[in-house]
Amino acid sequence: MNSDVVAALNRPRFKWDSAVGFTLLHLGALAAPFCFSWEAFWIFFALQWITGALGICLCFHRLLTHRSFELWKPLEYLLALCGCLAYQNGPIKWVAIHRMHHARSDEAGDPHSPTRGFWWAHMGWLFAFDEQLDRFEKYREFAPDLAKDPVYRFLNATHGWYQLILALFLYLWGGWPFVVWGIFARTVFVWHCTWLVNSAAHIWGYRKWATGDRSTNNGWVALLTYGEGWHNNHHAFLRSAAHGLRWWEMDLTYFTIRLLALLGLAGGIQLPKPEQIAKADQSPPVAVAA
Ligand SMILES: [Zn+2]
Ligand SMILES: [Zn+2]
Repeated sequence: MNSDVVAALNRPRFKWDSAVGFTLLHLGALAAPFCFSWEAFWIFFALQWITGALGICLCFHRLLTHRSFELWKPLEYLLALCGCLAYQNGPIKWVAIHRMHHARSDEAGDPHSPTRGFWWAHMGWLFAFDEQLDRFEKYREFAPDLAKDPVYRFLNATHGWYQLILALFLYLWGGWPFVVWGIFARTVFVWHCTWLVNSAAHIWGYRKWATGDRSTNNGWVALLTYGEGWHNNHHAFLRSAAHGLRWWEMDLTYFTIRLLALLGLAGGIQLPKPEQIAKADQSPPVAVAA
């Protein structure tokens, strides 16, 4: 076969639909300063917490991907709906991509490693078609537990519509300022916070554990992501519900899990055992490559 044809076939296919959605949402977010009101700001604040902290950090990541605790099932489904509203893929695809990341961290096959540069890890990977990530028959293999649940299959297939329904509701409630702050600015803000875990928390910060990858503990990312920035701790203890492991590693997602347990809604909370800590601590942490 002609070498040009081979090169074209090997070149990753650009996902124009992702690029258009990404651009429109960012352009909409730029309108936020021009329609500021305190009501619109508090809508933004509440929704970034509901979709980012509860939907993505607590539900999609610590509960669905790692099963680091158990939650009353109706609440689990409700929080998964909140995760869909973050517009970061449906639950089955999100979980599958994240499990791929842990299975091959910073090696070939990691969907978003900064070994290919900061911007690739942060958002570039979202625009390249990948057979493993974009075909349901392929990515479902990484999340068979969710793929067999009809509720998750339904949420996965319909996740984009909930954002539109919410936008319509906000428009009827408070007009365009509520839509700009509650949909555009809020979605873009939560996107970049989540993506910083894939980029910044695999580049900058300190490493306590020799995890064999580039994951770091990064305080400012932890602040923006409700504790997810303690990412080297997380790579060392995948099933731990707590990512902050020292008193000063503030982890609001773990506080929320504890609160849900106090209310009788959560249980089976997983934490590292002393022997696991001793095992992870046995070799000196590997410095992050420049
Ligand atoms: Zn994880
Ligand atoms: Zn990671």
